[in-house]
Amino acid sequence: MSTFQPVRGMRDILAEDAQVLNYVIAKARETAGLYGFKEVITPVVEPFELLSLKSGDEIRQRMFIFDDLGGRKVSLRPEFTASIARLVTTALRNEPKPFRVFSVGSVYRYDEPQRGRYREFWQANFELMGSSNPEADAEIILLANSLLKTAGLEGYAIKLGHVGVLKGIMSQEGIDDKTQNAILQKMDKKEYEAALALVASEKCRNVIHGLIELNGTSPFDTVQKMQKQVQDYEKATASVENLAAILKLVVESECEIQAVDPAFARGLEYYTGMIFELYVPQLEIALGGGGRYDRLIEAFGGEPTPAVGMAAGLDRIALAMQVQEIQLKTPQQKRVAVISIKDEQKGEALKIAQMLRHSGIWVEFEVMGRKMTKALEDADKRRVHYAVIIGERELKESKVVVKDLAKRTQTQVEIARLAEKIKS
Ligand code: AMP
Repeated sequence: MSTFQPVRGMRDILAEDAQVLNYVIAKARETAGLYGFKEVITPVVEPFELLSLKSGDEIRQRMFIFDDLGGRKVSLRPEFTASIARLVTTALRNEPKPFRVFSVGSVYRYDEPQRGRYREFWQANFELMGSSNPEADAEIILLANSLLKTAGLEGYAIKLGHVGVLKGIMSQEGIDDKTQNAILQKMDKKEYEAALALVASEKCRNVIHGLIELNGTSPFDTVQKMQKQVQDYEKATASVENLAAILKLVVESECEIQAVDPAFARGLEYYTGMIFELYVPQLEIALGGGGRYDRLIEAFGGEPTPAVGMAAGLDRIALAMQVQEIQLKTPQQKRVAVISIKDEQKGEALKIAQMLRHSGIWVEFEVMGRKMTKALEDADKRRVHYAVIIGERELKESKVVVKDLAKRTQTQVEIARLAEKIKS
């Protein structure tokens, strides 16, 4: 019989990679705490209708959709924001604003698999709801910056933009929402010619083309030039001003913004304001992104609630850490193998293993019934730090033999002092 492989786009994440991913998850959780975000856990399976409400065609077409046995049309979540929006309009409805909500878990999209792009991947999601002030946008950008910093990544860049600029121009020109979204999606994929081809007015085409071509010497310079470029468009001008205010707050605090992209668009339809993405030089794909979406909660039947959020792609952050060869800053856990020389001492050996575990030492107990040399060879291969050997003679003196597998030395240690000795 042939063996089974994971479904295309799905992965088994083995020990070493799982350790890095879990490290990133821990960093995301830590960062959430530092910024006052409370964690919530929402279902992986959600009503299709909820998830498709504002996702946009891009994501809607890539959702895992099925009927459950009760005949409900459901989907695996492709992101967290819709679930959080549901919470805000129900269970969290009467909570004082602002809400700061954090979630972490796997999400599912039928993307074309490649390095850093999977059909099941992990996101950490942060939503700050209730404020339309630029300091809320700034907080989310600073949080994203903190996350990459605490993961130890080097040379990462934050790219900043504002969908209100393009949307403002297009609305004033009378372009309907559907066409606007189609244009933004093409811009997101950098298919600029195809995007411009959808714009009927020549003036509008020229202004958007000007934004695409616009090159500033610094983020502040770019924003100034954007201001000139859109001066005939009232809402677009207000959006550039908003972008300038956010940029100022972020840069004045501590965080460097590497680029403002005047023609920046993101795949999700629900963005209304500032948008950003995170990159490292070694990977072309974004490590995370987010932005402002002031009308989403209303679309879900809630009260008008301005909101800003971001999702970090944890697999990609883990990948970037591996590419940059970043050492995990976790305290080195002491690991030992406990082996009894003879069967008669197995009970004593287990008792000692339990005692060590109670003091926080990680123990791999010999369960294969192997002879001592084989068991030691195996312990060596597994890179445990010490082998604790339980023999009849030593037990009589309340002692065991401790073998340091790296140094290849061995000593007798009193059982009462064993845990303390291993830890030191
Ligand atoms: P989005 O929800 O589309 O804004 O995506 C947020 C982040 O999730 C992206 O910046 C990526 O880091 C990550 N991401 C999106 N799609 C995938 C995928 N197919 N595989 C791995 N990570 C992904």
